[in-house]
Amino acid sequence: FRIVVLGGGESGVGAALLAQAKGFDVFLSDKGSLTEEYRGILAANNIPFEEGKHTETIILSAKEVIKSPGIPDKVLLIKKLYEQGTPVISEIEFASRYTKAKKIAITGSNGKTTTTLLIYHLLKSAGINVGLAGNIGESFAKQVIDDTFDWFVLELSSFQLDNMYEFKADVAVLLNITPDHLDRYEYTFQKYVDSKFRLLQNLEASDDFIYFIDNEPIALELGKKSFNVNHLPISFLKKEKNGGFFQEGILHLTRNTRTFDINANELPIKGPHNAINAMAATLASMAVGLTDEQIKNGLLTFQNAAHRLEPVAEINGISFVNDSKATNVDSVFYALNSFDTPIIWIAGGLDKGNDYTQIEPLVRQKVKALICLGKDNSKLLSFFASIVPVVIETQDVKEAVQYALSFGQPNDVALLSPACASFDLFNNYEDRGEQFKATVRSFIS
Ligand code: ADP
Repeated sequence: FRIVVLGGGESGVGAALLAQAKGFDVFLSDKGSLTEEYRGILAANNIPFEEGKHTETIILSAKEVIKSPGIPDKVLLIKKLYEQGTPVISEIEFASRYTKAKKIAITGSNGKTTTTLLIYHLLKSAGINVGLAGNIGESFAKQVIDDTFDWFVLELSSFQLDNMYEFKADVAVLLNITPDHLDRYEYTFQKYVDSKFRLLQNLEASDDFIYFIDNEPIALELGKKSFNVNHLPISFLKKEKNGGFFQEGILHLTRNTRTFDINANELPIKGPHNAINAMAATLASMAVGLTDEQIKNGLLTFQNAAHRLEPVAEINGISFVNDSKATNVDSVFYALNSFDTPIIWIAGGLDKGNDYTQIEPLVRQKVKALICLGKDNSKLLSFFASIVPVVIETQDVKEAVQYALSFGQPNDVALLSPACASFDLFNNYEDRGEQFKATVRSFIS
């Protein structure tokens, strides 16, 4: 086969369909099992595939391999491919060869989905013919088969960036870099930073690079190397000639000769982290050429994806908020920072080696009760039992909501922001968030 696709998820199946549409002889191989739907799609399109194994002789003889982002480089088969010099690329790299559309590419450790969806919403509501792809929704590859869009907004993880070489963004957004997924980067933070900075490869001098300069790893890297691009830094600390500046509740944006200001209170997405996301999205929209009115309208009408500081309901004056997607301590830091009223914090789940030191001052200041919702809450208990006035444990969502209702007073926020993975009691973070929302709503009389 000319092309072998490794991994039969959304991106792999999309890549196989695109490869076939472009006339390549393609084979898909997945070590696990495919869903019924993907099996059906491959069969209906006469694309040969295998499940439950990787047949090395076939894979090693491919001219090019498209690797799904979930497969680590340390897998022996992948090592062999690199050793013998077979090009190993990501689905994004492959698909980008077949589109004339301009591309806005977004990466970062946190905030990717929110910012990607916001940019997509801004462009779409302004009437731009725009597609949404990357880590989100339908694969990029599938969508370039017909190549009907003028713009694409792409959410990119470091794993996708790792196998990108010729890909060129027209607008690049780098939100932040904090330690994450280090198991895939030989536990070397610099390797992870390098991976994120691959976003900038191939950018030209007139292309926009939007980034949060207050993030130390980003600032450090930019101090080491110079990039000949149109720099649009975002900051809370310093106003640059070009870029975004957040001061006294106002987002100030400047791109080249144009400015745009908006009050953060008007935005439907709250908290300082969302001020960063909104500034990044606004600068990207300015790069596309949206009018002030289109930008303002888009910002005010945006609805974020579920499970990200999602308002659920108000009961007895207590606001219930679902932030189930906050599966690490950094996300909780931003969540706690997003409220000025006392917080009943519902946290816990599968610990990922959490260090709570970063949020201790915030918890002291804002949290009046901690409800631990996990199978093993020992880490949370040992850290917070002496810090938070009320700490209780449960393994039951209904009980957690009941506790919140009994401790809560008008104006309090009952915030599910777990800092942990969900797999101890739930299928995934979505399941945890859905159960929480349904339970809260069941208490509405
Ligand atoms: P990602 O797609 O990168 O996981 P999301 O947009 O889904 O990011 O947001 C996940 C969580 O990360 C949010 O619930 C929020 O707590 C936090 N977050 C969002 N934006 C930012 C940001 N710009 N900086 C830091 N944390 C953020």
